[in-house]
Amino acid sequence: MQSPAALGIGGDASPHVMFIPSAGMGHLLPFFRVIAALANHDGVDISVVTVLPTVSAAEADHLAGLFAAFPAVRRVDLHLLPFDDASEFSGHDPFVLRWEALRRSVHLLRPLIAGAPRVSAVVTDVTLASHVIPIAREIRVPCHVLFVSCVTMLSLLAYVPVHLAGDKKAELGPGVGAGDVDIPGVRRIPQSCLPPPLLDLSSLFAKQFVDNGRAITSADGILVNTFEALEPAALAALRDGKVVPGFPPVYAVGPLKPHTSSSPATDDTNKPVGSGSPAAWLDEQPPRSVVYVAFGNRSAVGRDQLREIAAGLEASGCRFLWVLKTTTVDRDDAAELADVLGGGFLERVRQGRRGLVTKAWVDQEALLRHPSVGLFLSHGGWNSVTEAAAAGVPLLAWPRIGDQRVNAAVAASGGAGVWMERWSWDGDGEGRLVSGEEIGRRVKEVMSDAAVRARAARTGEAAAMAVAEGGTSYRSMQAFISKLKAT
Ligand code: UDP
Ligand code: UDP
Repeated sequence: MQSPAALGIGGDASPHVMFIPSAGMGHLLPFFRVIAALANHDGVDISVVTVLPTVSAAEADHLAGLFAAFPAVRRVDLHLLPFDDASEFSGHDPFVLRWEALRRSVHLLRPLIAGAPRVSAVVTDVTLASHVIPIAREIRVPCHVLFVSCVTMLSLLAYVPVHLAGDKKAELGPGVGAGDVDIPGVRRIPQSCLPPPLLDLSSLFAKQFVDNGRAITSADGILVNTFEALEPAALAALRDGKVVPGFPPVYAVGPLKPHTSSSPATDDTNKPVGSGSPAAWLDEQPPRSVVYVAFGNRSAVGRDQLREIAAGLEASGCRFLWVLKTTTVDRDDAAELADVLGGGFLERVRQGRRGLVTKAWVDQEALLRHPSVGLFLSHGGWNSVTEAAAAGVPLLAWPRIGDQRVNAAVAASGGAGVWMERWSWDGDGEGRLVSGEEIGRRVKEVMSDAAVRARAARTGEAAAMAVAEGGTSYRSMQAFISKLKAT
């Protein structure tokens, strides 16, 4: 751990930073990681706004774990107001709905900030930016944003309002999409790779996205869980004002380190099928022989597709560790693995000892660092991409929703793995299943591709250099802390 002096902390100033995360583990975990990085240094006082109730059990468990691990971190509860219009949005992604509920409750923050010891800076999740930045400005507290996706997504967020303002269409009404977005100095993002709700600019997500995109240019700074070698052009373009002139400072501080080594306990209903715990099972496998398969915490892969994945993993002949979720929210996930995958598959997994399937929460970041893991079949959630990059494990990226196609493109160009561009994603409709045969073939092919493996190893080395003392991410974090101290 770096010394406080090395990080530019010392003297009398003791900044008090209030973190305002939103919902979803993909948003909470990077917050926890930044909080841990700051909490491990004397002289930084921290409060964390805890939004209640949580959407998922994983969020509740991890919030409890954070406050247990860092007793000096102050917990500030924010009880959401009832969301009266929720029925108007029935069928919406529960996390996007939660972002909206939070945005509508955000005025409750003002008394929370005023009631805490003098807050010297706020760090908000991007999903709340357009509501939190004006409040912070009003009470004269600097406001930073922690952006939980890649810098390329950040440039898209910043540029979409400019892109739409220049659109010749008379009316950007329902059903009208953003079209291809050519981000100056970054890359052209075809409409097919945009988060799908941007294909209907009247959608709730699109409205939030455009509002936050406009607001983010007036933030005091933006922290991103990325590193220079992964997306150098996008970082340079944002910093040079090519995307939006006068863009705030961007602190690339990744890959963020885990905030605690422990993970919540596995209950019996989620006992892995195979043998032993994931880590113990990996200990028994040869080096680089296992495909780790996981689609994040909130991507529900359809049952038919899950069965094709099962067939593909068997056909690949590779060992596999599969962390399987069947619902968007973990609390709804009551499915039995045998019903989902078929008893025959599970029996063969058990007997052949070639695989392990679990519905439990696992410590993914630690598992990816296990020497037995040779490939990560992933949805390409940004945290997963950075964890794989840090571990030097190649990704076989199969985007499903949201920012994942953009992330997959960045991962592939940054040397972190391979992007299955033609594999279907949510919303492609029936009949667009990727067959077990195709999955098996590609897994086997990429698993044995020495060039892919060597590139991922180099990306892992670049990630380690970035966070080591004197590295680019280390210095960015140092600059951020110095700025906090100066306010
Ligand atoms: N994760 C984990 N164990 C699980 C499921 C998820 O540690 O059983 C972590 C994973 O390592 C990552 C985060 O949850 O840090 C998921 O974020 P990501 O951006 O990859 O995907 P999302 O869930 O937002 O789609
Ligand atoms: N996002 C954003 N502004 C918003 C809402 C979302 O920049 O107002 C970004 C955010 O980084 C998120 C991405 O868009 O990661 C895609 O959102 P998605 O619905 O896939 O959620 P996530 O996977 O982050 O949970």
